[in-house]
Amino acid sequence: MNLRKHRLLVITLVIIIGISLTGCTGKKTGEDTSYKSGTYTTEAEGYGGVIKVETTFTDGKIDKINILENSETVGIGSVAIEQLPKEIVQYQSLGVDVVSGATRTSNAIIEAVSKAVEKAGGDVQALKDVPVVKEEGNDVIKETEVVVIGGGGAGLAAAVAAADNGAKVILVEKTAALGGNTVRAGGPYNAVDPARQEDVDPADENSMQKARDLTNVEPKNDRHAELMQELKDDIEAYENGTKDYLFDSLALHKLQTYDGGDYVGKLEFIEELVEKSLPTSQWMAENGVQWTDEITTVPGGLWPRAHLPFNAAGYDYIKASEDTARDLGVEILLNSKATELIVEDGNVVGIKGESDGKNMEIRAKVVIIATGGFAANIEMRQKYDPSLTENLPTTNSPAIVGDGITMAEKVGANLIGMEYIQSLPLGNPVDGTLNSWIGGAGVEYYYQVNKEGKRFMAEDGRRDTMTASLLAQPDALSYVISSANNDVDINETGINIWGDDVEKLVEDGVVFRADTIEELAAQIGIDPQVLRETHDTFNSYVAAGKDDDFGRTLFGEQLDEAPFYASPRVPTVHHTMGGIEIDLDNHVLDANGNRIPGLLAAGEVTGGIHGSNRLGGNALVDIHVFGKKAGEEAARMVNE
Ligand code: ADP
Repeated sequence: MNLRKHRLLVITLVIIIGISLTGCTGKKTGEDTSYKSGTYTTEAEGYGGVIKVETTFTDGKIDKINILENSETVGIGSVAIEQLPKEIVQYQSLGVDVVSGATRTSNAIIEAVSKAVEKAGGDVQALKDVPVVKEEGNDVIKETEVVVIGGGGAGLAAAVAAADNGAKVILVEKTAALGGNTVRAGGPYNAVDPARQEDVDPADENSMQKARDLTNVEPKNDRHAELMQELKDDIEAYENGTKDYLFDSLALHKLQTYDGGDYVGKLEFIEELVEKSLPTSQWMAENGVQWTDEITTVPGGLWPRAHLPFNAAGYDYIKASEDTARDLGVEILLNSKATELIVEDGNVVGIKGESDGKNMEIRAKVVIIATGGFAANIEMRQKYDPSLTENLPTTNSPAIVGDGITMAEKVGANLIGMEYIQSLPLGNPVDGTLNSWIGGAGVEYYYQVNKEGKRFMAEDGRRDTMTASLLAQPDALSYVISSANNDVDINETGINIWGDDVEKLVEDGVVFRADTIEELAAQIGIDPQVLRETHDTFNSYVAAGKDDDFGRTLFGEQLDEAPFYASPRVPTVHHTMGGIEIDLDNHVLDANGNRIPGLLAAGEVTGGIHGSNRLGGNALVDIHVFGKKAGEEAARMVNE
C-alpha cells in the first residue's frame, strides 16, 4: 500500500492581535475600574495546549490583548483567538460570550486575561459582571437574488457556484465563524481517480473478492442489474491487463455506496455523487483546494480512494471556498441565524432571523438551505433513534441541531430517512470529537482492541457495524493501536493529521506511547501477554494479507517499529443520513413529490442519498457535489 507522506500542517499559530481602544465602537462599560498601568504576560491551558497572552493596561483600561502563543485548532479555536481579545477590549468586560464550539479556548483566554487583571490590581469578578452591551443598530433588511443559510462546506460551495454563475448572493451563518462540521472533518474525499490510483498497490485477493461479491446479489432494480454488469466488465478488463495498480471503477464506488447503505439510498443520487466526485474535486482545486497525490482508505470508506487536502483537514475546504466566495462578491453575514422561511403565494421568497442581536429579513428569489444535520440535537436524534441517548458524545459542532430541517418542515418539506443516524467507533472519550489520536486517516495503519486487549471487529468494515461491535465491548471502550511505521499520521514537526501536537497528547495522557507492546499494555491496564499475542497475530495477518478472525482485508505494513501508540476511543454520534428530500436539481420536495418553489437544499441537511449507512469519505463529496449543483441551479433560476 502506498504510504501517505508526511503532510505539512499548520502548527502553532502565533497571532499577535493588537487591538487598541481607538476604533472600537461598542459601548464602554466598567469605566471606573482602575489598574496599574503596564503589560503583563499570563498563560492558561486551552484545547491544544498553553495559550500565552500579553495584556496591556493604560489609563485605567484594558488597552491591548496580544495572543503570543497558541496551538488551538485552525478554524475552531482560532476563531476565539481572533474574536475574544477584541471583545474583551471593546466591552471592557470579562463577561463576554464564549465562542460556540470553542469553549475551552474561549475560557482559557478569559482565564489568562483574568490573571493579568489580578496582577494589575483589578477586580476580576467585577469585570466578569460587566454586562456586554452590544451597540444598538438597525435591523438587517436586505434584498438579494440568492440567500444561502449555513456556512459549512455545502453552503459555501453553493454560494461560490451561484456567484460564479452571475447571481448576487448573501450567505448567513449563525455562529461567529464559517465551517460547521466540515471544518472538523479529517478531510477524506472519495473519488475514483485513475491517475492517482495508478500509483497504489493492487488490492489483495480478498478485497477483489468483496468487489466481485457486489456483482452477485439480487438486483433491486434494472439500473442496479446494469451496474452489476458494468462492474463485472470492469473487473474482467482489469484482470486481463497488467494488474499492477489498484483496481477501482465508478461502478464499484456506486455499488459499494448502495450496498453500504443497505440499498436504501436513492441510486440516481449515488450515481450523481460518484460521477461528479472527480470533476468537482477539480473545481475545488480551481477554487484553491490543494490536493495531495496520496490515496488512502478512511475508516468505513471500504476502498482506497480517499483524497486529502494538503494542510489542516476540513479547514482547507472552508478556507478555499471562503476566499473564493469573497472574491466573487458573496456577502457573508456571521452571527446571523435564520429562524423562518418567508412564504408568499406558495413561493419561498426569503428568510427571517436574527443578526447580531438585531432582526434580520432577507428577501431573495431563491433560498438554499445548507444548515447541516442534527447529531448535536439530543432530543431530535432520540426522536428518530431512541438508542442515541444523551450520554453518547458527538463529533458535531454544537450548532448542528437541525434548524434547516425544522424550517423546511414548517413549509411542507418532506423528510426522508430521519432514523438513519451514524455513529463512529473513533470518538475522543473526553468530548466525542474525532481528533487526538494516532492512527491516521487510513484504516490500513492500525487495529483496535477492547479493554482486555483483544480485537473485536474488522477495522475496515462499515461504520454502523463497527460501532455496534464497539458498543458490545466492556464499557464500550477501545484502544487504537498503531506504531511508528505508521508514518502516515505524524509529520516531521510531531503533528498528527488532526493538527494535534503528539508530544502534548502523550504528556497529557490522552494518547499512550511506549517502546514495546508490553510496556504499552501496562500503561493502559491490559495484560501485556494478551496484547502481545493480539499484536503478533495481527502482524501475521498483515503479512498474509488475510484476517482469520474478522475478515479484514485492508492492510498496510506490519506494525513493528517503536514507538507504539494506544489511543482510547469510544462511540460517538457523527452523521445524520436523513433530512430534507430533494430532487436531482436540489429542489426541496413536499410530501407529494412536488417542488416547493424557490427552495433548494444541499449537504447534510438533505436525506435519501446515503441510505442507512454512509461510507466514510462520501460526505465531503456529497456536500461539495450537491452544494455546487444547488448554486448552479439557483443562478439558473435567477436568470430565468
Ligand atoms: P454541511 O456539511 O452540509 O455543509 P456543516 O455542518 O458543515 O454542513 O455546516 C452547516 C452550517 O450551517 C454550520 O456552519 C452551522 O453553524 C450553520 N447553521 C446551522 N443552522 C443555521 C441557521 N439557522 N442559520 C444560519 N446558519 C446555520
